[in-house]
Amino acid sequence: MRCRKCGEKAAINMRQHKLALCGTHFLDWIPEQTQRFIEKYRMFGEDSRILLAVSGGKDSLALWDVLQRLGYQTTGLYIGLGINEYSMRSQEMAEKFATENDLNLTVVDVADEEGATIPEASKLTERGKGKPCSVCGLTKRHMMNRVAREGGYDVVTTGHNLDDEVAVLFGNTLNWAVGYLARQGPVLEETAAGLVRKAKPFCRFYERETAAYTLLRGINYIYEECPYAEGATSIYHKELLNQMEEVRPGLKLSFYLSFLRAKESGLFVQESTLAKSKLAQCRTCGQPTTAPDQCAYCRTWDGVRKRRVTTREGETR
Ligand code: SF4
Ligand SMILES: [Zn+2]
Ligand SMILES: [Zn+2]
Repeated sequence: MRCRKCGEKAAINMRQHKLALCGTHFLDWIPEQTQRFIEKYRMFGEDSRILLAVSGGKDSLALWDVLQRLGYQTTGLYIGLGINEYSMRSQEMAEKFATENDLNLTVVDVADEEGATIPEASKLTERGKGKPCSVCGLTKRHMMNRVAREGGYDVVTTGHNLDDEVAVLFGNTLNWAVGYLARQGPVLEETAAGLVRKAKPFCRFYERETAAYTLLRGINYIYEECPYAEGATSIYHKELLNQMEEVRPGLKLSFYLSFLRAKESGLFVQESTLAKSKLAQCRTCGQPTTAPDQCAYCRTWDGVRKRRVTTREGETR
């Protein structure tokens, strides 16, 4: 297989695009395409202040590298979840990348902020029935928005790739979760109630493309997955979608793009309008919420703190 641009030996063959490229041309192609998606979906402009959620994994570090190469002003945000070895190693990777590339990184630690790590909190709340992903997702979303608001950032970016997006889309379609489907897309607009704009510049890249990019750029990242990811439904959906992609190259991309076109032509407009009209401000933290009084984040963490006190009192008796 030869590179379409120069005829040298290809480093990657992207069957869905009928495009094979050598290492050099692939390393140019990724930023060119990213810039195209940023403009196509009006994610942000060249003067925007961008907060980039960094997990230490390949996608977020690759995105940081690409945005940097494109000349955008970025600050990384690492959220310390307190998941033993995994959190320690992923924080090291994020810090190392920031230092080596002379980039700003803000670190927020959940246990310092709220008094418990994610695994501890998940044992003290009904949310997610003892599995940490529910409280973890809620906490990450809240903290990203809080740091972005307090720091006056224009947009929060995440490294979600096409495989992530399609797995979520597949799960939401199986359940006809119209509220979630209405919110899914390359951009989540900011709201008057104080939700900062969110963008996913890698949403059209296959995971193997971002993996190849980090490899060819020599970016070190944490290879291990979070230990709680094992057995997650989204991983099962990814496997199923990969099997279908094997038989029909391009299926994942076409599923996602057809969904975006359907949304553009008006599907889920009603749900989007309804969701926006329901947003109120949380009485405790001031962040937008669909609950009438206190947001899910504040309710969950208030509950965790109360149970911690009760547990301690029980232990000292
Ligand atoms: S897999 Fe790990 S990092 Fe991801 S949501 Fe679950 S607990 Fe959080
Ligand atoms: Zn080439
Ligand atoms: Zn709140």
